[in-house]
Amino acid sequence: MKLSNWGNYPVAESDLREFRSEQELERKLRDLSFWIPRGMGRCYGDSALAPEVISTRKFSRMISFDSQTGLLKCESGVSLKEIIDAFLPRGWFLPVTPGTKYVSVGGALASDIHGKNHHKDGAFSDHVTKIKIRLPDGLVKECSADQNAELFHATAGGMGLTGLILEVSLILKKVSSAYIRQNLIIAKNLNEILEAFSQSEDATYSVAWIDCLAKGKNTGRSVLMLGEHATADDIEKNASDPLKLAGEPSLKVPVNAPGFALNKVSVSLFNKLYYGLHKMKSIESIVHYDPYFYPLDSILEWNRIYGKRGFLQYQFVIPVDQGEKGLRRVLDEIASHGAGSFLAVLKLFGNANKSLLGFPDRGYTLALDFPIKTGTFELLDRLDKIVIDHGGRFYLTKDARMSKEVFQEGYPQLEKFLEIREKLDPNRVMRSLQSERLGL
Ligand SMILES: Cc1cc2nc3c(=O)[nH]c(=O)nc-3n(C[C@H](O)[C@H](O)[C@H](O)COP(=O)(O)OP(=O)(O)OC[C@H]3O[C@@H](n4cnc5c(N)ncnc54)[C@H](O)[C@@H]3O)c2cc1C
Repeated sequence: MKLSNWGNYPVAESDLREFRSEQELERKLRDLSFWIPRGMGRCYGDSALAPEVISTRKFSRMISFDSQTGLLKCESGVSLKEIIDAFLPRGWFLPVTPGTKYVSVGGALASDIHGKNHHKDGAFSDHVTKIKIRLPDGLVKECSADQNAELFHATAGGMGLTGLILEVSLILKKVSSAYIRQNLIIAKNLNEILEAFSQSEDATYSVAWIDCLAKGKNTGRSVLMLGEHATADDIEKNASDPLKLAGEPSLKVPVNAPGFALNKVSVSLFNKLYYGLHKMKSIESIVHYDPYFYPLDSILEWNRIYGKRGFLQYQFVIPVDQGEKGLRRVLDEIASHGAGSFLAVLKLFGNANKSLLGFPDRGYTLALDFPIKTGTFELLDRLDKIVIDHGGRFYLTKDARMSKEVFQEGYPQLEKFLEIREKLDPNRVMRSLQSERLGL
């Protein structure tokens, strides 16, 4: 079958196999020599693509939950949405969540994902107490930050290349409501938004939408969104059920649309927010977790808005001391290319954890969507150079096209990762199109 991930690029011919138990998994894996695990295919590029793909979607049972500590043990195919649906009504939420809830627990750990609270709470693996993993040679092992730590730190962020994660034990976060107390701050330019980030380090959640159309003195104009879990008092007047779950999405993109459509929608949304706020500078409100964390989940298959050719997501991080210079050069390059009719998401990360291929590190991270059209790949090659010049690196789970050289520049612990991989999988049975491209 033809298979692709969220960016719909690249498209590969793959044999997709599912399993419900470890025994069935062994049968499905017999004789495979080039395979990779797959969760919900929400990585953007080719990390979860190979000639043989083993999907965890049916391997998705919750195993146990401790209502005193919030420790949940589940199979790796359980989705973040399933965790929210089961545990938010009991007052528990995810400790770290990406911008979509349609992600599996195994995929979240394999990418060591981050959320809007990275500066405070670290990455996904920082909340994982133990995992069970099937290694490439068929052996099943447990590991954690204390037990077989080398394997754990290679697996978190290891993009499925150290084995298939079978089970994950994860500590959920106690919350008293399903709502977020949101504070929006407007920033007129890049200096203002960087200053606003550094003054908001105490906020639990922080993320900014940045307008890539803006040029000159407006370069970097943004809206910063800060958030705290609302207490029962905060929401008294706003909701009858403080732990209310989100409804199912009712909108779906039915066909592949012309490639510019999402840009128009998102830019107009940004402009509404920006100009609506302009006179006030900042505004507080209580919002439900679903639109706060997952604004795009309300439209199913929104990726089709980019059209048949698909799109590339481009996410990098640049150290804080290079932030202003590096981001300005990137934004200027995009604006001068004329491709900037879209929105970007900016965030200030906290320190890196011990994941060998973990992406987040102290610095500014910018995530941008580029529809695939003439000149896109050349523009991104130019941006790669700027990011590398400023000591940055790129997020594997968003990547579909970077070169081996660019990748290697950004990951100082790559050698260590490759040593572990050599021990675990000398014949490179577990591989993805991405790992082949990047020499992993
Ligand atoms: C709208 C949107 C918003 C996003 N926002 C964020 C964000 O804010 N922060 C962030 O960090 N990421 C973000 N992402 C990226 C997403 O969180 C990651 O790509 C995540 O890994 C996807 O999980 P998945 O289950 O779909 O995994 P897949 O996409 O299927 O696979 C991703 C990687 O995990 C590996 N993998 C999957 N399951 C297993 C397993 N059981 N064992 C071993 N390896 C496995 C695959 O081999 C592959 O390398 C976003 C993605 C989308 C589409």
